[in-house]
Amino acid sequence: MSTSLPILKHRPPIAPPKAALKDSLFDSHGRQIRDLRLSVTDRCNFRCIYCMAPDVKYIPKMQLLRLEEYIRVIRIAMSLGINKLRITGGEPTLYPHLDELLQEVGKMGLKDIALTTNGSRIRKQWAERWKENGLNRVTVSLDTLKPQRKDAITRSQTSIVSVIEAIDHLRDVGLQPVKVNAVVMRGVNDDEIIDFADFAIEHNVDMRLIEFMPLDAGRRWEKRHVVTAHDMLEKIRTKYELIAENDPKTSTSVNYRFKNGNGRIGIIASVSQAFCGACDRMRMMADGTVRPCLFSDKEWSILPLLRNGASDGELRQFFVDAMWTKSAGHEMDRDDFERPEKTMSTIGG
Ligand code: SAM
Ligand code: SF4
Ligand code: SF4
Repeated sequence: MSTSLPILKHRPPIAPPKAALKDSLFDSHGRQIRDLRLSVTDRCNFRCIYCMAPDVKYIPKMQLLRLEEYIRVIRIAMSLGINKLRITGGEPTLYPHLDELLQEVGKMGLKDIALTTNGSRIRKQWAERWKENGLNRVTVSLDTLKPQRKDAITRSQTSIVSVIEAIDHLRDVGLQPVKVNAVVMRGVNDDEIIDFADFAIEHNVDMRLIEFMPLDAGRRWEKRHVVTAHDMLEKIRTKYELIAENDPKTSTSVNYRFKNGNGRIGIIASVSQAFCGACDRMRMMADGTVRPCLFSDKEWSILPLLRNGASDGELRQFFVDAMWTKSAGHEMDRDDFERPEKTMSTIGG
């Protein structure tokens, strides 16, 4: 539930000890928050079956943050130790000021700037411009290599060839490593696991296989639809020898390289082997709603503060208080686990 005016209602209820939190963001479980996932639009040209409803209701335009508001929020977050930014959505290439945003954030001194996109709208010149503006990496979602299946999964008609061309181009301009995300769903695309591994090698990309999470608008997710990390790896090992990489502890994926071949495989086991203990992420939706944990409906809106003349100090305190309320993690195994109300397209992936 997102809070609404008056401003006081936006103040998260538990305040952390202020002295301990100067210039940094910690949650009450001792984790430092370094990674901001910023959704710049909830609009999308796809309606992926695991994400968005065909008749989705978008956030009213007036409530979407303006370019200068995004920039201010990023600046404040950086002053609290955020050093990684992922721009996402919805489909971020539909955000009309994406170029200006990249130009600005490229100058801000972040350690890492990444973008997640469905790859359907990328033009050749864009990749070069993004790179020049300081973007470091791009993740492209591609859940199948079969054209008809792509139409069924995305509930839209787009050419796989153009998405693959975009992936190759992003790699060639040096936005590396290009990560390619596939949500693996039992009975939908789990017969392509080996094909995804082949694709990683042929195109020299990091192919990331994601366990299907209960964040679909149709609320059709059931545990039996999840193909576990263990099963995905077993399958790949029937064809390829994999060597485990030495991943940073905050990595969402467990990564492997091929003994004989380019590219890598990353497995995101969000359901079967949650990685909440090392989570350093916070999310902000396109309307300024801060969501400390993907799987908790606890969220706080910065919009009234932004639009009612709040000082930088007040915005900083908002983040400090909000992040203090971050959940320890999800508990999908519990019988009383409640799925989040919102989809990934709204929260930002
Ligand atoms: N539109 C862009 C795209 O598709 O890459 C960016 C936003 S999308 C919400 C970000 C990521 O979330 C995508 O890689 C998508 O596969 C993933 N995602 C969405 N719903 C999911 C679900 N129910 N389970 C697992 N991953 C999901
Ligand atoms: Fe759109 Fe991305 Fe969600 Fe697909 S996964 S509906 S492309 S936001
Ligand atoms: Fe982080 Fe919450 Fe996701 Fe766990 S469920 S990894 S704590 S955002």
